[in-house]
Amino acid sequence: MKPATQETNKDLLFERARKVTPGGVHSPVRSFKGLHTTPLFFTRGQGAYLWDSTGKDYIDFCMSFGPLILGHRSPEVEKVAIEAIARGWSFGACEPYSLELAEYLVSRLPFIEQIRFMNSGTEAVMTALRLARGATGRSKILKFDGCYHGHADALLIKAGSGLAGTAEASSQGIPKGVADDTLILELNDQQGVEDLFKRIGNEIAAIIIEPLPANNGLLPQEKSFLHFLRQISQKYGALLIFDEVISGFRVAFGGMAEITGIQPDLLTYGKIIGGGMPVGAVAGPRKLMENLAPIGGVYQAGTLSANPLAMACGLATLTHLTDQTYNLLQEQTQNIVKLFEEFMAKNTQYHGLKVSCVGSLFWIHGGPMTLHRIREIPADIAIRFRELFQDLLNRGIYLAPNGYEVGFTSTAHNQHVCDELKQRLALN
Ligand SMILES: *Cc1c(COP(=O)(O)O)cnc(C)c1O
Repeated sequence: MKPATQETNKDLLFERARKVTPGGVHSPVRSFKGLHTTPLFFTRGQGAYLWDSTGKDYIDFCMSFGPLILGHRSPEVEKVAIEAIARGWSFGACEPYSLELAEYLVSRLPFIEQIRFMNSGTEAVMTALRLARGATGRSKILKFDGCYHGHADALLIKAGSGLAGTAEASSQGIPKGVADDTLILELNDQQGVEDLFKRIGNEIAAIIIEPLPANNGLLPQEKSFLHFLRQISQKYGALLIFDEVISGFRVAFGGMAEITGIQPDLLTYGKIIGGGMPVGAVAGPRKLMENLAPIGGVYQAGTLSANPLAMACGLATLTHLTDQTYNLLQEQTQNIVKLFEEFMAKNTQYHGLKVSCVGSLFWIHGGPMTLHRIREIPADIAIRFRELFQDLLNRGIYLAPNGYEVGFTSTAHNQHVCDELKQRLALN
């Protein structure tokens, strides 16, 4: 058997992977489930491009699901990563890179005073919930149907069939007691939130929301709804958690908190904050954050937390994100979106598909241009996406392999890449 790194046939690779790993993958979406094909194995990335095991290249619109805002192997990040790795890559002790990154973030984000780093967005959310429960002495959490917050037990919860607000686990293995403490409502449903708080507001530790929901399609919320969540949580002594794992450093440096001017109690970050290395973070005001051990009684820890290599890559990425970067990203993304729209118009099988876009995020979907809740998403999305995905793949264009995932661009998706996209979409 060849070393996997030298095998070019993806079907052979996937067959081997399925023997030693459940479903052949280390995260379910990677399996291309529902797409009637086996997953590609990627061996190299550079700028806006990915190469598969056969050497075919793709314009990448997944970008590792968001972290790579400067593109693959951005020279600025690579240089710093090599310097950092040459000093040793894990000490399990205090070291200067995490301090640099924390100071940098606290200086650039006016709504936080302290931050703690961990290894993933899931861990960040898990810690934020524990912190909220510890600080309030309450146990219930309100989340919204259509928001994804990682795979902590308390958040693998979907709407139940009973009363508004009732929930059931969306995965096996979640104890009923855990599910019972998670309340769930539809996005953009002010009345529902109001009724729920009237009933049991003083049992709710926190409201958690993706202020720009981007894990079940792109479902932008009315600003007034987000402001309302701030008011009602304050009124009842519950905390407001903005899960900015995707939106943070993506839609603006300060994410949706910056865009809306809302001061949440806690924020969770991931993805871009590590520049493509495994990093998550919880941030907030000092008074609240110091409930965490070793000062406070809320425990949280990590052997590899604030790993110096990851901290260095995060810092190298974030220090390159200026106002101009966000203008550039938006401009480039709009050009890309226009090309996809032209492509849909030109090919009858894609008529009715639209491309909605916020900053450097986009989403191809049916139905009206702007959707706010999951039940507004047309039921045929999976079938329509499958056809589009395969067609684009053949043309050397890679979207995240699921119709509910959004597309991401990077600073590397420049005019040159846009011209190449135009060719690959046969729009010349
Ligand atoms: C990706 C994501 C998470 C989970 O982060 P992981 O690093 O995959 O654990 C949590 N919340 C949101 C909003 C996300 O987009």
